[in-house]
Amino acid sequence: MSFFEDIHSLLNQEITAENESKEMTVLVRILSIIDAILTVLYAIIFAHCGIHALILFLIFFLINLGVLLATYKYPSYATTTMHCLVLACFIVVFCVFFDSRFNLQLAIFTLIPLVYYRVDFPRWLKALVAVLCCLMSGGIGILLLYHNVSVPLSRSVMITTIILNMIVITVKLLIISRYYYLKFAAGESKIVAYSKKLEQLAGADALTGLSNRRSMEDHLHMMAEKYPSLNQSFSIAICDIDFFKKVNDTYGHDAGDYVLTQLATIFKNFMNGKGKPARWGGEEFLLVFDQMNGDDAFLELAKLRNQIEHSEFQYKSNTICVTMTFGLEEYDYYAGIQESIAKADEKLYQGKHQGRNCVVY
Ligand code: GH3
Ligand code: MG
Ligand code: MG
Repeated sequence: MSFFEDIHSLLNQEITAENESKEMTVLVRILSIIDAILTVLYAIIFAHCGIHALILFLIFFLINLGVLLATYKYPSYATTTMHCLVLACFIVVFCVFFDSRFNLQLAIFTLIPLVYYRVDFPRWLKALVAVLCCLMSGGIGILLLYHNVSVPLSRSVMITTIILNMIVITVKLLIISRYYYLKFAAGESKIVAYSKKLEQLAGADALTGLSNRRSMEDHLHMMAEKYPSLNQSFSIAICDIDFFKKVNDTYGHDAGDYVLTQLATIFKNFMNGKGKPARWGGEEFLLVFDQMNGDDAFLELAKLRNQIEHSEFQYKSNTICVTMTFGLEEYDYYAGIQESIAKADEKLYQGKHQGRNCVVY
């Protein structure tokens, strides 16, 4: 376990170059390690081809180690470029000295995604890499049709090499794809979270945190749309603080704000599981009781009115008490949302004229 932890921390070690993307450096490290391991495997597979082959693989093994070490010091654009050049040289040398039938030249195509998604590489360079990959791969294939330099190899060695190359190319492409996928997914989830936050902020009242009027209007229209299929009534109540101007005048505007936030908390808790509260404007709130007819909502509002009447809001050295008046209307499908709200509003003002601190239904 600690061996893997050591490898992991070595791979993820910071580089000394400033303002560098660590992830990209880690990717180049992984690719260089894969190439270094590949040269060791080739050395084993082609050991019988003589000392020249061994020296060749040893040189590329050391060069890949060099690129790996360079990633701890140099910026990732430099080490990515080094990795590309080393791989290209290795492919050319391998295909020319051994054979292109092992498909190693296809490994050059791993450089296209590696380079293409880098934001710091200029477009012309990306295009150049793509063209060179294409020319190199095709060129090697065609060239070796005319100059077959293949060394005598047993069928099993050839099959092993082809399989090894295909596995390495696939693994490298998967690692590169996964690296960029994680990068894009992280960016995308950040955008989603940010737009959700924006949506939430746009639908919330800044002072109380309750839904604002626009968000409640959307909610009511959504409920009205669902109404025919649900076949269940819902009720709308509009309430207004009695003599709130006096609270502001007596204790100050901040005290008034405090009362509004405390009332919002009462609404939030009271409506939990019953429906949704919103700040309708100023010191008016709108409560929608889901799946509740007017009679049931009336009983609930009587409790709420009573709770508010007996609440004391402690603001600095002042104890503030308020009452509220409620206008209640069961949603009328034929009248629609606007009309139902207007009726609840009318009842609220009726309550104000009747002496306030009451629920009118
Ligand atoms: P009534 O019982 O008839 O409703 O009397 P009222 O004094 O509550 O009614 P009025 O409409 O005369 O006054 C409402 C007051 O609510 C006036 C306004 O300053 C205050 N108000 C509205 N929004 C806010 C707010 O966000 N913060 C504070 N502190 N006061 C607010
Ligand atoms: Mg008012
Ligand atoms: Mg008022």
